[in-house]
Amino acid sequence: MEQHYNPYDNVLKVVKEAADILGYSESDIEAIKHPERELKVAIPVRMDNGTTHVFEGYRIQHSTSRGPAKGGIRFHPDVNLDEVKALAAWMTFKCAVVNIPYGGGKGGVICDPSQLSETEIRAITRRFTAAIAPLIGPEQDIPAPDVGTNATVMGWMMDTYSMMKGHCVHGVVTGKPIELGGALGRNEATGRGVTLTTKNILRKMGLNTTATTVAVQGMGNVGSITAKLLHKEGMKIIAVSDVSGGIYNPDGLNIPAILEYLSKDRKNLLKNYEEEGIQRISNSELLQLDVKVLIPAALENQINSLNAKNIKADIIVEAANGPIASEADDILNAKGTVIVPDILANAGGVVVSYFEWVQNIQSVSWTEESVNEKLKNIMDPAFEAVWAISQQNHATLRTGAYLIAVKRVVEAKKARAIWP
Ligand code: NAD
Repeated sequence: MEQHYNPYDNVLKVVKEAADILGYSESDIEAIKHPERELKVAIPVRMDNGTTHVFEGYRIQHSTSRGPAKGGIRFHPDVNLDEVKALAAWMTFKCAVVNIPYGGGKGGVICDPSQLSETEIRAITRRFTAAIAPLIGPEQDIPAPDVGTNATVMGWMMDTYSMMKGHCVHGVVTGKPIELGGALGRNEATGRGVTLTTKNILRKMGLNTTATTVAVQGMGNVGSITAKLLHKEGMKIIAVSDVSGGIYNPDGLNIPAILEYLSKDRKNLLKNYEEEGIQRISNSELLQLDVKVLIPAALENQINSLNAKNIKADIIVEAANGPIASEADDILNAKGTVIVPDILANAGGVVVSYFEWVQNIQSVSWTEESVNEKLKNIMDPAFEAVWAISQQNHATLRTGAYLIAVKRVVEAKKARAIWP
């Protein structure tokens, strides 16, 4: 049996490891072990069939030491307090590793959007926004999309918050529709960052992008854009999956056709996708394929102590947050698998969210070209810095990323000292 999985314990373990190397005492890191605020809310909703259902939601601010809390809102049946705590903490360290002036936060509602109508999702969004309104705002905590939410949901959040305030507040959320002050390039930003990171790691390892085999788990916002951009780079995407399972073709999948099928209707699933030469595989089979690069882009704990020894990929780029559990990380490191950690690999989303917020508070708008260029100018040096510190310390890239991030957070905390 697999041990009980608590993602927040995973965060604490890697933070402690980095703190030890950095020479910090327990006292130096004590405050970052505890989220600053945890809010749990009840969300009553009148369902389409006339009944009332109460959903449970959370907003957690892990840290505001380096700036306002920042992080997405997840709508998924498995949302729970420990998961949201971990996701909030990962945001703190992610914003620190790419050095943008934010802390970390995260939110979620326990619900299954695939079983809900648009009216019900909007009702959940509005009531949840109202319930967490005392905590959020452009200067204190700025939500964004995550699993199960998207630009449409962010538009409803922005509207709800603005109606409550009595004026238009663009900067309260990022990842909004372009018409509401959304940044050009935000929708693609996380996948674009994953793509830049994948190219960087291949270059460091002396490998070509052309015809390099890739498997992507999860074909939502992050997975589908990553697959699209890597395909454009000439890489061979041989397997992709979603919640319904995966498809596999050793000669390479027709990524543009798959993306068109998935974008036609949010309820379209890969299990119903038809293409000549494909084989149906499970999510667990996808993770164990013999590929050069594996990109988990779905949920946490996908690679764990049960399947880690069967992973054949040489490189794993963590597009999802926390896809590899701690024990699996140890097994893979011992095997020599190169892992590019989530807080670096998927930081493109929050970087462009930061650009969106900067544009909103200045009432300016940048071109998509300029956004993409600015993103690259942050992602590439962040990768180089993580690579260099990992080499210097004979450490993994995960430890390297945390060495940079933990130092920035602890030093900010020290500089502010404890209030009062
Ligand atoms: P999404 O909701 O757009 O897509 C999630 C995908 O995962 C879907 O294809 C879904 O079918 C699939 N999925 C859900 N449950 C699954 C399961 N049990 N097994 C296999 N596949 C499953 O979400 P997203 O925004 O693409 O987020 C994916 C991951 O990337 C999450 O870990 C998220 O926290 C992380 N992330 C997202 C962003 C962002 O900007 N959206 C930024 C950084 C990190």
